[in-house]
Amino acid sequence: MRITDVKIEKLRLDLIEPFKVTFAEFTGSDNVIVKIETDAGICGYGEGAPLAFVTGEVFEGTIAVLKMFRQGLIGMDPLNIPGIHGMMDALIHENGSAKCAVDIALHDIKGKYLNLPVWKMLGGESGVVVNDVTIGITTPDKMAEAARRNVRELGFSILKVKCGIDPDTDIETMRLIREAVGPVIRLRVDANQGYTVEKALYAIEGFKKHGVDAVEQCLPDWDMEGSALIRSRVSGIKIILDESIHTPRDAERAIRLQAADVFNIKLMKCGGLYPGMRIGSLAGAGGLNCMVGCMLESSLAITAGISLVAANKAVTEADCDAFLFIKEPKVQMSGGFTRDGGTFTLLDKPGLGLDIGF
Ligand SMILES: [Mg+2]
Repeated sequence: MRITDVKIEKLRLDLIEPFKVTFAEFTGSDNVIVKIETDAGICGYGEGAPLAFVTGEVFEGTIAVLKMFRQGLIGMDPLNIPGIHGMMDALIHENGSAKCAVDIALHDIKGKYLNLPVWKMLGGESGVVVNDVTIGITTPDKMAEAARRNVRELGFSILKVKCGIDPDTDIETMRLIREAVGPVIRLRVDANQGYTVEKALYAIEGFKKHGVDAVEQCLPDWDMEGSALIRSRVSGIKIILDESIHTPRDAERAIRLQAADVFNIKLMKCGGLYPGMRIGSLAGAGGLNCMVGCMLESSLAITAGISLVAANKAVTEADCDAFLFIKEPKVQMSGGFTRDGGTFTLLDKPGLGLDIGF
């Protein structure tokens, strides 16, 4: 089988309402969809969601990089996923979203070729995944109300709360949220690089009083040593790294430094399912767990992310909720998975199981 063409299109996703994290407020995302065609009549779809603050990519750059990959891809065997990653890595450093768009499309093709859903093809036993839902930064009262609504009305059992601006406000927010949702709901906090070591240690002691399971990315992405220091000083709460972990190499370094208990894998940071599975394997071997997170992605990349959760034993947590905040997450596409509250069930259809109209 050979690749005959690569089509690249823009996918604009608008949020229902603005979403605030420590470093930015989002209203939407300009994403990229690729369609890879083959001489076997099978085609695959992939998505890239460039996010300048995290991956260093912008939409126009992602398009330019994909055009560069297009030259290398035509004529290659789409089943040679490691070889294609080698080609892309040789052409350009980083650019995870562009590489991810190609990688997802290749997995979609391979699944269709083998007549297996991607999650089964990668080793998954069950296509059922329990996902959290994220609460953006507003005021402590409004965040507690959002938490209550997500649990009582929408059926989620795990909440991820964006914090990281001021420890006292953050602790108060978590107190109000715990009060609003009761004792059983699992809570995790994402500081999105907003703390110093001192602030993180102070905030963590407060969070623990309100039964917070885990705290994500307390420090700037480059400060893995700082994260190791925090981890050595606290107990009873898991330390998650997100912005610090892009590639398998970052994961290896974090394991060596004992800087985390959990890695937040994002397909857009690492470059897709192939490197994502490698991070999962490294984490598993090092005794860590993983979560799969997401950028502002449509059902296409979200289906790929949930497939990674279902496929990799070391991936125990799912934070693939961005499509819930998008006005039309299924623009021109249907299938992939179904949702009942926080329980997502992947379809038993070849590839990613999506019908895409382009
Ligand atoms: Mg995060």
